[in-house]
Amino acid sequence: MNDLTGMTPEELRDFSTELGEKSFRGGQIFSWIHQHGSESFTDMTTLSKELRRKLESKATLQAPEVIDVTESGETASRKFLFRLTDGMKIESVFLPDGKRRTVCLSSQVGCPLDCKFCATAKMGLFRNLTSGEIVGQLLAVGREIGKRITNVVFMGMGEPMLNYDNVIKAASIIHHPEGLNIGSRKITISTVGMANRIRQYADEGHPFKLALSLNAADDVLRDRLMPINTKHNLEACISALDHYSERTGKRFTVEYVLMAGTNDRPEDATRLAGILKRLDCKLNLIPYNPISGEPFKRPNRDQLKRFYELIYSAKRTVTVRWSQGKDINAACGQLHAENQRKNFRKVKSKSIGSQ
Ligand code: SAH
Repeated sequence: MNDLTGMTPEELRDFSTELGEKSFRGGQIFSWIHQHGSESFTDMTTLSKELRRKLESKATLQAPEVIDVTESGETASRKFLFRLTDGMKIESVFLPDGKRRTVCLSSQVGCPLDCKFCATAKMGLFRNLTSGEIVGQLLAVGREIGKRITNVVFMGMGEPMLNYDNVIKAASIIHHPEGLNIGSRKITISTVGMANRIRQYADEGHPFKLALSLNAADDVLRDRLMPINTKHNLEACISALDHYSERTGKRFTVEYVLMAGTNDRPEDATRLAGILKRLDCKLNLIPYNPISGEPFKRPNRDQLKRFYELIYSAKRTVTVRWSQGKDINAACGQLHAENQRKNFRKVKSKSIGSQ
């Protein structure tokens, strides 16, 4: 069955022609799905009854099913647990902040990269999400919230660059003017730093914002915290990012999860400042959100301030992101869907992936 949620208008136009219909019907279907939020073909009243019948038999609108919504008691953020058509579970987070309404999307069921401070890593990787499942998370959250979503971040479960094609396609669908029409600078793709993919992304000229999860400023520490660094080390990431700046002229974001006693020493700040000086970026400091079973510590305000000040003298564009939704395990690095292990086989256990 063809899942229409993950198709671009161009693909839907081709699909309409294949069904023996005029191609513009594809554009209408796209706007029914993305602008009107239709969940069934019967809603699509500008299409003939006959076409709607054909669609019923040849296509689906595979929205991930919302099976639980948890609201934070501290902030207005909400965590959504979804069941996919094969029974697998993933999470997305809604993060309101004044006029800004952000949704944090997952790109994989689990993640193969084994970053030591991240809860998703504990799951291992089950599979990539389809473009329809990625866009479907956003449609479902939008429906529940009932207000326009203004920003999207690919910072949920998984490594977007390991599901590159589907993530780029989903971002393009979300951005499309005939659909949700979310601005390209309001869509951010975050990566652990796969140098080859960053170069490809730059060369292909995609308009979405890029963020790098740096988290350590020397290879010894980064190898330990993020095993992917043994394949794509700091120098490889930095030179890929330089390439990105040259090709696109766009500034990117560096994210640094601050863990007290691990990566917040004065020498870490000095090294980080050295790296930042070389790059056209801004820095986002994220105080570590505790995950169970890990020894890392969240910095207190004084520790954070000390580190911030050391960096600020080298880089003026530093922001601190106190993640929302800590109390419901919806903050950065805390997403983890239970009960997968007994029902499904992992395709890859916590190893560092093939790219
Ligand atoms: N794999 C991609 C997308 C996930 S984004 C990436 O790593 O960029 C998740 C963000 O949350 C990353 O910046 C990651 O470094 C950060 N993070 C992971 N675990 C965290 C934790 N326990 N506390 C705070 N931030 C965390």
